[in-house]
Amino acid sequence: MKLDSSLLNSDFSHIYIEKSVLKHYKTKKIIKYFNKSKIIEIDHYKDIFSRTNQSFKHQKNSKKLILAQKKDNFVYNGSEMCDDFGNENFYYTSDIMNCIYNCEYCYLQGMYTSANIVVFVNIEDTIRKVREISKSKKIYLCISYDSDILALENIARFTEDWYNEAVNNKNITIELRTKSANFKSISNIIPVDNFILAWTLSPEFITRNFEGGTPSLNNRLNSVKQAVEKGWKIRLCIDPILYIKDFEKYYDEMISTIFNKIDSNKINDISIGTFRVGKELYKNMKYKNKKSYLLAYPFVDKEGYVCYTEKHRKQLIEFVNQTLKKYIDSKKIFIY
Ligand code: SF4
Repeated sequence: MKLDSSLLNSDFSHIYIEKSVLKHYKTKKIIKYFNKSKIIEIDHYKDIFSRTNQSFKHQKNSKKLILAQKKDNFVYNGSEMCDDFGNENFYYTSDIMNCIYNCEYCYLQGMYTSANIVVFVNIEDTIRKVREISKSKKIYLCISYDSDILALENIARFTEDWYNEAVNNKNITIELRTKSANFKSISNIIPVDNFILAWTLSPEFITRNFEGGTPSLNNRLNSVKQAVEKGWKIRLCIDPILYIKDFEKYYDEMISTIFNKIDSNKINDISIGTFRVGKELYKNMKYKNKKSYLLAYPFVDKEGYVCYTEKHRKQLIEFVNQTLKKYIDSKKIFIY
């Protein structure tokens, strides 16, 4: 074992808790779940999360948990860089900051100075805000953008909270996006039409080399299959498609693996898109990840974000789109 890794504490060996949420019911449940972790009381999550001179890369190997209270910015307008699937009122929430996985192309490394995970335990305040917004209109809400909330379901149980809201509030359609294989954590709940489970899938080569800590394609598909069988509304996301050597071979193999296992008629839709990220985030990502093969591509600047050249973007989209059409109705494919 390498000396530096043998010296690391395991993930969540320490839990920092804002004093204001010490008595919150979720805090109590989380402390119970991690009964061996060291608890440290703090005044504000930023005292830990936003310190200067932190190493995102090293913290990824020994993440700490921070429990905090969200006081503002409960709901955001959907980003132009994300697909709204034709929905007019597109919002997203961010009740967990950071992710247990470590994808080389993830924008979170450009967004935060810390890789520690912040859980805003007062989810009821975000839900209240969403209820207010959706009182007079139908809204489309993504709840798993700045994290992977299904991967953290055993800890925070936010999927269940949002599910309960979706059951009672038909003015919201929720999308939960995940790379986890943790369907079992919600397998006892009955699907509803206004809650979409969206799995991001990548060829096994990409999963192994660029999506640190994520479940294999096969394990993700096992979760998809279970969710399909239970009757959930399922979205598959092949996004970001990455421009790598032999991409045709890898994406072809993946698509045939998917539809050998999953009945395409049971899939609600598929979203495809190529790598893209805000210009400033990209600069930070590259700075923190100087040896990254993926980020070394000569990206082009397009209205504030960086992306592949039009030629490569087209090549990737064309290939994946045409391959998908062999298995699934083209009306179900959304291209970003
Ligand atoms: S799963 Fe998503 S949020 Fe998590 S590290 Fe990968 S890209 Fe980022």
